[in-house]
Amino acid sequence: MHQLMQQWPLRVSRIIDHAARFHPNRPLITRTVEGPITETSWSVVRARALHVAQALNAMGIRRGDVVGVMAWNTARHMEVWYGVPGAGAALHTLNPRLFSDQLVYVINHARDKVLMIDLDLVPVIEGIWDRLETVEHIIILTDADHMPQTTLPGPQNYEDWIAAVDGDFEWVAGDETDACGICYTSGTTGNPKGVVYTHRSNTLHAMATNGADMICLSAADTMMPVVPLFHANGWSIGYAAPMSGAAMVLPGRDLRPQALHEMLEMGVTTTAAVPTLWMMLLAHMDAEGLSLSTLKRVFIGGSSCPRAVIERFQDHYGVQVLHAWGMTETSPIGTVCTFKPEVLALDPTARVDVQETVGHPPFSVDIKITDDSGALQPWDGETQGKLWARGAAVIQRYLHADTASTDAEGWFDTGDIATIDPHGYVRITDRSKDLIKSGGEWISSIELENAALNHPDVAEAAAIGVPHPKWDERPILVVVRKPDTDPVPETILETIAARFAKWQVPDDVVFMDEIPHTATGKISKRHLREKLTEMNYRLPPGA
Ligand code: ADP
Repeated sequence: MHQLMQQWPLRVSRIIDHAARFHPNRPLITRTVEGPITETSWSVVRARALHVAQALNAMGIRRGDVVGVMAWNTARHMEVWYGVPGAGAALHTLNPRLFSDQLVYVINHARDKVLMIDLDLVPVIEGIWDRLETVEHIIILTDADHMPQTTLPGPQNYEDWIAAVDGDFEWVAGDETDACGICYTSGTTGNPKGVVYTHRSNTLHAMATNGADMICLSAADTMMPVVPLFHANGWSIGYAAPMSGAAMVLPGRDLRPQALHEMLEMGVTTTAAVPTLWMMLLAHMDAEGLSLSTLKRVFIGGSSCPRAVIERFQDHYGVQVLHAWGMTETSPIGTVCTFKPEVLALDPTARVDVQETVGHPPFSVDIKITDDSGALQPWDGETQGKLWARGAAVIQRYLHADTASTDAEGWFDTGDIATIDPHGYVRITDRSKDLIKSGGEWISSIELENAALNHPDVAEAAAIGVPHPKWDERPILVVVRKPDTDPVPETILETIAARFAKWQVPDDVVFMDEIPHTATGKISKRHLREKLTEMNYRLPPGA
């Protein structure tokens, strides 16, 4: 009775085949890099992706090769998203905001043979071209009329390049465990590390992402990923949306709040981005008195979502917040905060308390918390521990690494610190390297920052540990003030003291005009520490 069901390799090409066959006319609306807003459909995206696969094949790209793509969220990017794996190659998404040394490193390290670049990003590649070792072809994602002047050798325009083949092509076959995509972590310490997704992991992950207790996309939805497709596997949206037959709105490179609001009003029901982006959008909508006529759900992750963002979206705009946690190494979704019956039974304020957690994992993701010695920690919602993950779309080993990144039981150390409550809801309290260790106790920098944001004059806050002779480390708070305000430090500390034990309250408040951020828009604690060292910062006397 062995193997009486069909062998059906989980290849991502099947996702776009499904969308084109059963949801052919569902629209994809794009704000193009050239400017105009255009519309296409899943059947056209698939047909053009076949052209991409065929054109790559004609160039000599074969199974196992790597194609680098540096592009904003557009329909062309979606064509390439399926065209590259459809040629048997791995799609290496490139973050244009990486420092040039890191970009050079990742392109050489992944051995990209072809680079596909958005029109406006050509100067980024020009600036590093003489250090790239493996790139043989350059495609600029535009048409002949918009081709820029460039010093890059022999670039082709995308439209002519795909028009030169007839599209009569079949997806290159392979195993479901073939490489499908590559995404590097942003490398806050050392070089970025390459995470290689397989066709199987991406397909299973998109199915998990679409679950009713996850993003829950359906053919009746219109999804707008504001999170770039190049960040952390595009949060799986490039797979999850066509798999469910959802329509898409693609905002291109213009992420200003007014531009995003205009795109959201094109029928978007579900959207996704990091908290800072939503803070800017909410401020814009509040100031202009705007509303959201179709949006139902906003998916927020990448860093901790402040309570004020959750409340404003839900109470004022009638949009449900889905707070999520994940990382490049987990494809990326690890947990999403949706309501189990025991949470639904709570009063509204207590439900928002739960939404400050990142929720619970879908099937295919398993998690645990341990202490430093590896001993399991209780799920009491209080005890912090190292968060580990394993599952169908969790990393085994980084690209070209000699050793696995998991322990003998297959658990991957996420580098995050978390609590888990009796219902299985995870609260991320820190990254282990940012945790503040004072007198042998752990203080969560994320919770201090979220508490500081409750002060009306605080625009952004970062808590970091400063070495202390007696306590090992003591927390201080770096604050960016809201425009035209001048808060007194004591009032900010009082706001924090309302939620924390006395010994957890920071010893000092340092005002800065700007807090440094990483290429993925997170607070860069490393650069912040460097900045404080440059300023020759000292704890106040008596601390
Ligand atoms: P990078 O580190 O390159 O920006 P990742 O997207 O892989 O890229 O970052 C993942 C990390 O982001 C997680 O390990 C965690 O520290 C943090 N993170 C993600 N989502 C949340 C969240 N909802 N709350 C707090 N931290 C989060």
